[in-house]
Amino acid sequence: MQLRDLPSVDELARSVGDPLAVDAARLVLARAREEIAAGADPGDLESRVRAELAAVRAPRLRRVLNATGVIVHTNLGRAPLAEAALERVMEIGRGYSNLEYSLEDGARGSRQDHVADILRRLTGAEAALVVNNNAAAVLLALAALAEGREVLVSRGELIEIGDGFRIPEVLARSGARLVEVGTTNRTRAADYERAIGPETALLLRVHQSNFRVVGFTESARLDELAHIAGAVGLPLVDDLGSGVLVELPGEPSAKESLAAGAHLVCFSGDKLLGGPQAGIVVGRADLVDKLRRHPLQRALRADKLTLAALEGTLALYLDPPERIPVLRMLDEDAAIVRARAERLAGLVGGAVEETVARVGGGALPLAELPSFACAVEEQLAGPLRLGEPPVVGVVRDGRCLLDCRTLGEHEIDEVGAAVAAARARQ
Ligand SMILES: *Cc1c(COP(=O)(O)O)cnc(C)c1O
Repeated sequence: MQLRDLPSVDELARSVGDPLAVDAARLVLARAREEIAAGADPGDLESRVRAELAAVRAPRLRRVLNATGVIVHTNLGRAPLAEAALERVMEIGRGYSNLEYSLEDGARGSRQDHVADILRRLTGAEAALVVNNNAAAVLLALAALAEGREVLVSRGELIEIGDGFRIPEVLARSGARLVEVGTTNRTRAADYERAIGPETALLLRVHQSNFRVVGFTESARLDELAHIAGAVGLPLVDDLGSGVLVELPGEPSAKESLAAGAHLVCFSGDKLLGGPQAGIVVGRADLVDKLRRHPLQRALRADKLTLAALEGTLALYLDPPERIPVLRMLDEDAAIVRARAERLAGLVGGAVEETVARVGGGALPLAELPSFACAVEEQLAGPLRLGEPPVVGVVRDGRCLLDCRTLGEHEIDEVGAAVAAARARQ
């Protein structure tokens, strides 16, 4: 093909007959000119325009099969939602709702009221508030309770979690002043006591999330801090990070934190709770009320789809919550995971490997969950990511491991088909 054989943009666009075709035709023709100049044949232009249009219309945010073995994988959207939560999202999203309307009074209501009762029941708190994520919850708590004043934090808890959320920076943005207490490895209750002054607004305890200090360490117990704070009438705020609602060894629940004396507890909705991205604050009614009335609350509030998914997830906690995918994956017997890996290996001719799955999301960073993967050729990792649906595995020791703890029973056939398709495209 020569340059003069190329159709005009209009001709090519018309041949495809799509309202978006003009831009696509222009792009395809520009590339074709370069290819011809380089001595290559641009091939069938019409099908290239169609491929371009398909790419324009295809969603960029896509469902992915998580074969990494990391259950709360922040890069892969953290917690998959339970069916019951998804149903609530569909129902509320499809039409109108009483989001901010009191059906009893026929007047304006509060979006915060829908999940407050169940959060109180599940945590034993006096009051509850929901915002967009836990970073927002911590920011709001500090802004509402400590702006222009001092916040005491242990040097061992001045953490950065993923994506640049640094406690000292969030604290500075809230308008509060950080007062560091103790040392990196050892902070005692007496260190807090000594640091309290006329400018102190609150004591902040931060879950260390995804790192641990080991060896010669010491930290103050929450009940000791509550005692110190209570004696001088200051609030103790606990940023729990994950904030499970069930009993999980090594991971403090919101209920335990409140019972130990924390006055306000902040945690995420989409980590071990297994719900949508949200920041949940529970605790003393007067403190929660201060947060609710702060102007930032309006900027940080959760939307109706979040609230619908959260209410749907929380309702599952009224019964044994095995219908919550995150908790199910966490709890599942290794023998069942192994059976899935064996089935996948049978489908694709791979090898079953013993692996270690992780909780992720900053919770229980040292916990190792026994797991099993199906190992396939390392070169498949890329094609698997680019397939439909994309499959994300782990490349290790020259192989691509497909960890079956984070793959559902119903996803094994899909992964099998994806591996076959990836091999065919090689
Ligand atoms: C994850 C985490 C946060 C931030 O929560 P998001 O819901 O991701 O905003 C804050 N503090 C701690 C200790 C965390 O682990």
